[in-house]
Amino acid sequence: MESRVKSNSQLRRADCFGKVDGQLQRSPSVIVIGGGMAGVAAARALHDASIQVVLLESRERLGGRIHTDYSFGFPVDLGASWLHGVCKENPLAPLIGRLGLPLYRTSEDNSVLYDHDLESYALFDMDGIQVPQELVKKVGKVFEMILEETDKVRQELSEDISILRALSIVFERKPEFRLEGLAHKVLQWYLCRMEGWFAADSDTISLKCWDQEELLPGGHGLMVRGYLPVIHTLAKGLDIRLGHRVSKIERRYNGVKVTVENGETFIADAAVVAVPLGVLKAKSIKFEPKLPDWKEAAIADLGVGIENKIILHFENVFWPNVEFLGVVAETSYGCSYFLNLHKAAGHPVLVYMPAGRLAKDIEKMSDEAAANFAFMQLKKILPDASSPIQYLVSRWGTDVNSLGSYSYDAVGKPHDLYERLRVPVDNLFFAGEATSALYPGSVHGAFSTAMMAAEDCRMRVLERYGELDLFQPVMGEEALSIPLLISRL
Ligand SMILES: Cc1cc2nc3c(=O)[nH]c(=O)nc-3n(C[C@H](O)[C@H](O)[C@H](O)COP(=O)(O)OP(=O)(O)OC[C@H]3O[C@@H](n4cnc5c(N)ncnc54)[C@H](O)[C@@H]3O)c2cc1C
Repeated sequence: MESRVKSNSQLRRADCFGKVDGQLQRSPSVIVIGGGMAGVAAARALHDASIQVVLLESRERLGGRIHTDYSFGFPVDLGASWLHGVCKENPLAPLIGRLGLPLYRTSEDNSVLYDHDLESYALFDMDGIQVPQELVKKVGKVFEMILEETDKVRQELSEDISILRALSIVFERKPEFRLEGLAHKVLQWYLCRMEGWFAADSDTISLKCWDQEELLPGGHGLMVRGYLPVIHTLAKGLDIRLGHRVSKIERRYNGVKVTVENGETFIADAAVVAVPLGVLKAKSIKFEPKLPDWKEAAIADLGVGIENKIILHFENVFWPNVEFLGVVAETSYGCSYFLNLHKAAGHPVLVYMPAGRLAKDIEKMSDEAAANFAFMQLKKILPDASSPIQYLVSRWGTDVNSLGSYSYDAVGKPHDLYERLRVPVDNLFFAGEATSALYPGSVHGAFSTAMMAAEDCRMRVLERYGELDLFQPVMGEEALSIPLLISRL
């Protein structure tokens, strides 16, 4: 990677950005806060539009919730690993295509399991007995019908309720959907996977808004060589300061001043705030003056869930040659899901992915205990399983740099919170997955909000310098016909 990445210790230069001899340089400048997909993509776009950019990242690595680890000798993703929407409409498709990064498609469009279809899998009960495929398919159809019925419930009710509450109303109305024995456990497994998609439990997910996100066509493809090359490509040549945790953002009529934990300050015309929703919720960054009430309310009301990965590396493959393995149980909390990386990437690796309360509980364990917990789930399916030789455990919920895995619609809260989180406040622009009304909780969602923030920010700073060039939008997009912004006073 050729980006000019500087760690704290290497930094000897003046502690101001865009300042020469105490005077602001007559050159547009922007500070980008956060080096995940949104921050890196926004910085790239602004840099390419000839704006001076510095990117401040709290960790000693780039990528944020894209975290490809190479310690096994091959890439494995502890954060995002799927491209949701393998199609040319996906804003990341041109870049991934140009880099020649291979994808392994795990599902086509409209699967009840989102990122998998029911083609290559094996579900087991707690006694290690495989669930017949016909039963899994049959229960999948019932689950789809139940979800359709929840839509009717939604239309009847004026107030919002949780998905779980809606399910119980459906069961009261249609007792034939109440399944018994093994079929009930398989239904719980479907619910568990749905909860995994939202990184939240069904008693916290909004019935009104749960299907408001847009799914791009083309199904879901695993990034076989990991997601990090995309970040590194976007970061090439940028001024990036790792180990720079922002603690204060002051906005004035003529610029922004950003303070880092060690007291260092940076000054520029504007800033793009691309830190996770969890970090904003924790108020570990002080805004001066404080953010408007509507923005603070959006931060407080939008849900942020947890999904984690426990990655088990084995000496050799002893499990069936299917895309995923699962354990069904009485409750969705007790169900398990393992992604088989051997099928997709050829490595003897299984990825256990707990979500919601289960993920939260597992985060209380040590790495060793968490890996052992995952292995014990596997032993239920395959009693002769040999122990892993290496493991990796993510902690997205308690990591101070993320404080959650991704956003979701909480019960009783409107879907327009994502848009409110995105709307700029003076010369502060917001980007990141939680600011994407269309594609929340995704890498391409984070990327597309970065493009919006960068363009809004570019217009704003160039306006100040009288250098508005309407024919050079960021990232070489075609000049669009943009409607006039008219408000009624
Ligand atoms: C386990 C898991 C699996 C996922 N799977 C998928 C998937 O398969 N496909 C998909 O599309 N999406 C997936 N996602 C979601 C996806 O990873 C995120 O939506 C996306 O990466 C978010 O990008 P971002 O730039 O908004 O935030 P982040 O990537 O979190 O970037 C924010 C950055 O801000 C930094 N930061 C925090 N605080 C400060 C501070 N005070 N000062 C400076 N910097 C700070 C952080 O260190 C971080 O680098 C997954 C997420 C998780 C956790």
